[in-house]
Amino acid sequence: MSSCTRCNNVVTKYRAQSTDNELLSIHTERAIYLKKSQERNKTRDELLKRLSALRNSGGGVLLIHVNGTRAGDRCLKYFDEFVGSIVTRLLEPGEVYANTYKRQWLQDILEYCADSAVFIHIRVAAVTAVTDVKGVATVDFNTKLGKDYENVIPTTQQLLTVRSHRRTSTGPAITGLTDDSKLHEDVHIQLKRFLPKPQSSDEIQQDATTFVEYLWNQLKLKDSITSMSKIPDGGSYYLGIGERVNTSEDGTYTTVIPDVRGFELKLDQGELEETLKSKLRDCVLLGRSENTFTDVPSDLIAIAFHPIPSDHQRCVLRVAVKCVEGVVFCDRCGPRTYMMENGQICRMEKGMWLERIM
Ligand SMILES: [Zn+2]
Repeated sequence: MSSCTRCNNVVTKYRAQSTDNELLSIHTERAIYLKKSQERNKTRDELLKRLSALRNSGGGVLLIHVNGTRAGDRCLKYFDEFVGSIVTRLLEPGEVYANTYKRQWLQDILEYCADSAVFIHIRVAAVTAVTDVKGVATVDFNTKLGKDYENVIPTTQQLLTVRSHRRTSTGPAITGLTDDSKLHEDVHIQLKRFLPKPQSSDEIQQDATTFVEYLWNQLKLKDSITSMSKIPDGGSYYLGIGERVNTSEDGTYTTVIPDVRGFELKLDQGELEETLKSKLRDCVLLGRSENTFTDVPSDLIAIAFHPIPSDHQRCVLRVAVKCVEGVVFCDRCGPRTYMMENGQICRMEKGMWLERIM
């Protein structure tokens, strides 16, 4: 994604005639817009980084080299589909898309430059104060809100509401898996099957750090911890339980029931528990109602391993999450967003982020 000669030439030519507040550029490949891949996610994130930096620093222009565009192609459909849903994330409540981004081929602005036909020009507006707060365009809040069937990205206003709620720090009592018929997903219960890809299964089952990383990122434990900690009475995350469709014998009634399969734990329970708690200490931060950030309480989570009644070789891992006052973030640096400093993109400090949403 580093810039190519064409990027450098076009940016130099554009800069010579521009009076924009800030100017950033990025080199992309057209082919990656078209199908899902790691590279595609990476490019999206790089775009978000640049757009948020511009939005948080008075606005400006982003030039995007779309390498692989054929001469004469004026279609922006694939690009729009590629960025459409993610750039909306950078809008604060009340902000309007069309007033924030204006995208067009650079050719329409810089006609005398030969390469401008393969560059997209996006004019990006600064975050505007829609309410009485300054506002900030956030790439990733690093905290989620629970709905009964999923964890969702919050808005800044929702986070302010959550942060100011007085809540008692309580969590679910850890008991056995006595009545698993009650294990249906809601804001307090999240169920995950243990189904790693065969090629990575051994490594996950034999190394505590790899196991925890898998749980944390791929199986979204970080989202469950941040969302359940905001809900009175907290919640429980179960690894080794899924859901399956169940149809009555006469075929007239279909529903979904918990599917408690567990998994074979090849690691020492104590080692896994300690690694998970250490992950929490390293990665989690609490934003408190009095505008300070601190460590989360050491008893934010409790861990239990429940043997499966039908097969004692297998178990279900339960992570019980307590409710705490404030907002739990799954990143020690808090929400992730960017700003411009002396012409460079840098991550915005969490205190400044907070100041801008107050
Ligand atoms: Zn380039």
